[in-house]
Amino acid sequence: MERIGIYGGAFNPPHVGHLRAAEYAQRELQLSKLLLVPSGTSPHKALPPNSPTADQRLQMLRLAAREQMEVSDLEVVRGGISYTYMTVEQLKQQYPDQEMVLLMGTDMFLSFGNWKEPERIWKNASLGVFYRGEPQEIQQIQQQKEKMESAGATVYLVKNPVNRISSTQLRRMLAFRCGSEFLPNGVETYIWQNGLYDTAEDYRKLPMEQLEQVAVRLLKPNRVAHVLGCRDTAAALAKHWGADETDAARAGLLHDITKALDGPLQLTLCREYGIVLSSFFENNPKTLHALTGSLVAERIFGENTSVVAAIRSHTTGKAKMNLLEKIIYVADYMEPNRDFPGVEDLRRLAFENLDQALKLGLTMTLQLLKTQGREISPESAQALAYLEETGV
Ligand code: FE
Ligand code: FE
Repeated sequence: MERIGIYGGAFNPPHVGHLRAAEYAQRELQLSKLLLVPSGTSPHKALPPNSPTADQRLQMLRLAAREQMEVSDLEVVRGGISYTYMTVEQLKQQYPDQEMVLLMGTDMFLSFGNWKEPERIWKNASLGVFYRGEPQEIQQIQQQKEKMESAGATVYLVKNPVNRISSTQLRRMLAFRCGSEFLPNGVETYIWQNGLYDTAEDYRKLPMEQLEQVAVRLLKPNRVAHVLGCRDTAAALAKHWGADETDAARAGLLHDITKALDGPLQLTLCREYGIVLSSFFENNPKTLHALTGSLVAERIFGENTSVVAAIRSHTTGKAKMNLLEKIIYVADYMEPNRDFPGVEDLRRLAFENLDQALKLGLTMTLQLLKTQGREISPESAQALAYLEETGV
């Protein structure tokens, strides 16, 4: 009996990781055909704002599809909420003599009991489960597999190669005008030609309110409060010390703008921007978000040189920092969501003696890095040495 795979998802946008998983499943499960089924409206996850239309996602997927893959518009045409049992039943009617295999990830498999009409799914299709291979995960999915098989389901476990990209991260990369290496050829052109994922948006010199909306969209939700706190603290410090309040607020709002990207993606962004990195950054890509944030502030948001420089030095500091640079460094450290022993001293000091506050922040950071056995950036060491030399 021939086997046909069903690979559903938002595909927002489709990327090389999807294709790799698809080809892997084709090979491991010996599928004669793989149906790619973009969701209409997913019951598990609503699409983020500014997403392309369902038709555009279909188009992109058609451009991405490789040999023995076929795009099905069944869920898009049906409209409304895409329930998997309906899709599986419909496809089984189209292919009554073939074995259908519904592909899914570990999380979906483990929560299978919560799906709508799970029985109607496994009565019409086998389940092909991609797993990553962590020991605890294997135990959980083995248990679930046994449970489901004793009920009558057929389950195949497929070890999935690790994927470097997710659609969420790719959308961020696209907003930064990056990420082409993760897009199948035709898809990249289609995105740019149609201005999808904000690629046609001009973010330069946005008014404050709009800047906030864009920043919030690009951050991880758990970082939003920190960033807004940093913006307000920076503006308050600027007012107190006579710096430009607007610059301070904008730098505060944008200082962690690339923080959601993981280390490898930070390196990708630098590569695509044509930046050559020092060995410290190559070895500590997580600390790159200050540099990449400053590049994005300059190239994407069109910020002025003061704002760009303040973002650039916000994690490590540097020798001879100017007023705005000091303010952003200290504001990042003491904004209202920060909580660590000594934060109250720092908050008081920031309004009494900014240099002392800066010195305290730098000292605490270097101490922490030392106890953690981590490498100290040359810039931080120089920043502290400079303060000591000048008698702070
Ligand atoms: Fe930061
Ligand atoms: Fe921060």
